[in-house]
Amino acid sequence: MSNYNINTICVQGGYEPKNGEPRVLPIVQSTTFKYESSQQMGNLFDLKEAGYFYTRLANPTNDAVANKICQLEGGAAAILTSSGQAANFYAILNIAGAGDHVIASSAIYGGTYNLIANTMKNMGIEATFVDPDILPEELESKFKPNTKLVFGEILSNPSLKVLDIEKFANAAHKAGVPLIVDNTFPTPIFCRPFEWGVDIVTHSTSKYMNGSANAVGGAVVDSGNFDWEKYSEKFPGLTTPDETYHGVVYTKSFGKAAYITKMTTNLMRDLGAIPSPQNSFYLGFGMETLHLRMERHYENALAIAKYLEKHPKISWVSFPGLENDSQYALAQKYLPKGTCGVVSFGIAGGREAAVKFMDSLRLAAIVTHVADARTCVLHPASTTHRQMNDEELVAAGVSPDLIRISVGIEDVRDLIADIEQALEK
Ligand SMILES: *Cc1c(COP(=O)(O)O)cnc(C)c1O
Repeated sequence: MSNYNINTICVQGGYEPKNGEPRVLPIVQSTTFKYESSQQMGNLFDLKEAGYFYTRLANPTNDAVANKICQLEGGAAAILTSSGQAANFYAILNIAGAGDHVIASSAIYGGTYNLIANTMKNMGIEATFVDPDILPEELESKFKPNTKLVFGEILSNPSLKVLDIEKFANAAHKAGVPLIVDNTFPTPIFCRPFEWGVDIVTHSTSKYMNGSANAVGGAVVDSGNFDWEKYSEKFPGLTTPDETYHGVVYTKSFGKAAYITKMTTNLMRDLGAIPSPQNSFYLGFGMETLHLRMERHYENALAIAKYLEKHPKISWVSFPGLENDSQYALAQKYLPKGTCGVVSFGIAGGREAAVKFMDSLRLAAIVTHVADARTCVLHPASTTHRQMNDEELVAAGVSPDLIRISVGIEDVRDLIADIEQALEK
């Protein structure tokens, strides 16, 4: 299936029923799996045989959907998590621990910023945040002997900064560490980060991937390209025996699946952030139309961005698809077919006018969510980013008057009419 074009993988990837099996991916809503002998079960525990025994470690519905995402990204192995937060947490924790250091772009989702700046710091993992526009030499100077990875967001939520992927990948690889990126906003329809040198991709599948806002979820995909053994001293967890798992050496036993297998046997085993098979079913079902939805999200968002740009009551518009946008050149390079459906803008009259405008909308709903079929609006400074002080807000590219509109796949004429009447008020 992975040889097919991406639109075909959206529809049919991940699950290929055999003769007489259900055409639609079954929801295997079972914690456990039955075996005839203890010996057989023992072999599964020892990773000597592949098979299911407990859903925290593997489940057929979850695996099929992970497989679809893996194929869409062109990766070697993938795992689903119960949320995007869990995906980013696991992606980092799998190769960094107390005493280690990571480098992250400052233009990232507020939840990921908190995770890295606070929770992981409390766990002993130090972080250096860098401006995504940092010069290559300056970026290289941020690495330390204990730096284990570089993290960024392909298209940042909500500031819509496009990551200069090659710049970050080059710096990471020069220092012998992988580049991990969150590809939530573009989805593999608009960007396939592995083709630009990224090593590991994460997703909040709660957004476009699911598409209907009916299940929180996440995913981690490994390209299989990073040479852990070459930098063995940095990544002993992957290249030396894991005494907590029968002395297995992940790179030796699992090759390109080493990183994801370790994530399953260590992090899922011990922390357990798995999705329910029911939620994975919703995700797989949603992804059957991902390619169609992304095109319409982008088309509608571009039309709204152009409308807002010309409106006298709008002080600024940020959308990487607009030719005069600061991110346009990077978007043309990395996201030539489209960016996403999210547009940020500021209303003349600042914070107060923003709230009045939002309260006047009828079709676009105020929700703490983005990136689903229904248009919605959010004021990040008073919601998702409220933990940040003004300085941190600016560093993350979020101004106090910023309104984020997540343009859905409704008829764009109705959406513009709704904005029009709200602006009149
Ligand atoms: C929403 C989001 C997350 C967090 O995902 P959840 O599924 O809400 O836990 C992480 N990264 C980005 C870019 C997001 O938009």
